[in-house]
Amino acid sequence: MDAEWGDGTRAVRAGEDPAVPGAPLRPSPVFAAPFHLGDQPPRANGADAYGRTEHPTLRVFEDAVGELDGGRCLSFATGMAALTAAVLACARSGDRVVLPSDGYYTTRLLAAEELDRFGIEVQYAATPDIERVAADGGLAGARMVLLETPSNPQLDVCDIAAVAGAAHAAGALVAVDNTTATPLGQRPLALGADLTVGSDTKALTGHSDVLLGHVTVTDDELYARVKGFRDRTGSTPGAFEAWLGHRSMSTVDLRLARQAANAAAVVELLDGHPAVTGLRWPWRPGDPSFALASRQMLRPNGVVSLELADEAAVTRLLSASRLWAAATSFGGVHSTIDRRAQWGGDAVAPGFVRLSCGIEDTADLVADLSRALDALG
Ligand SMILES: *Cc1c(COP(=O)(O)O)cnc(C)c1O
Repeated sequence: MDAEWGDGTRAVRAGEDPAVPGAPLRPSPVFAAPFHLGDQPPRANGADAYGRTEHPTLRVFEDAVGELDGGRCLSFATGMAALTAAVLACARSGDRVVLPSDGYYTTRLLAAEELDRFGIEVQYAATPDIERVAADGGLAGARMVLLETPSNPQLDVCDIAAVAGAAHAAGALVAVDNTTATPLGQRPLALGADLTVGSDTKALTGHSDVLLGHVTVTDDELYARVKGFRDRTGSTPGAFEAWLGHRSMSTVDLRLARQAANAAAVVELLDGHPAVTGLRWPWRPGDPSFALASRQMLRPNGVVSLELADEAAVTRLLSASRLWAAATSFGGVHSTIDRRAQWGGDAVAPGFVRLSCGIEDTADLVADLSRALDALG
């Protein structure tokens, strides 16, 4: 792939082999558990042997995502499988890992319910504070620090390069949950991270119909460790998911562009609206994340958060809207509103919502949301 190509070209062409006459433009899924070994030892000359450890559809998809991330990618059945592998392939009993206290709630559950059980000590730091914690020597003795920037759902950001510098000086690895940004929106490996992790269930695939995740690294030894963990614990995605993921990511540039344009218009409507407080979108001038996001990230996306008065206000807004669906997850083609407090686990007010702008027409979304806001009185 040409490093000079733009996002649209890269999203389509990443991972593609040179054209072969008669071959399809995009390979079809290969459904197989075992492959013929013939008279060769398993995996001789890179031949496929067993689908849990390798299959052709996985390889093309991983090549594509890896090219966007700038490293070697390993794909997983879900984002949580990817995050689990990133942590457990690197940390052992007695190690300390630093996690965002304001990050994705299942990551915090993973820490509290599983890592703790295996004797891995967990230290929490909030995304806006982690750079200071790192500068003050708070990472000393840690095995790994996981950043989530922008954090989900509150959309705070932290300086990946600054934390990576301090973490490496302290002997810690740096992993970044890059789900909200996507590989087009932020390149953590180029900023000094050792691992970039994503839930590809969200905007990378973006159609709300598949669960996937990935870990990308540049170091070969780290690659072997994460691959070993995945292959032994068996969280490899099957051929259909990998094919769907590859097919879907071809349009990620177009989808992100429309989602970001919709978010900009929606933020303009919401900014200063009497029913709305705590409006967050890292690309709104004046947002606490604006300066750093503009410097560190490559492009905006469609995730916005804000607070309404209470739970009843969110219910009224949703019932008055035709285009904004009540649903969790984000980054899909549909516009959605998620009241986070109903899931438990996030330290947010009952009226706190995360909006995910889809790819519908901007004017339709704004008109629908504006009418729904009127219903709040
Ligand atoms: C959704 C999400 C995950 C988990 O991904 P799944 O594919 O649902 O397992 C992890 N991190 C962040 C930031 C997420 O938004």
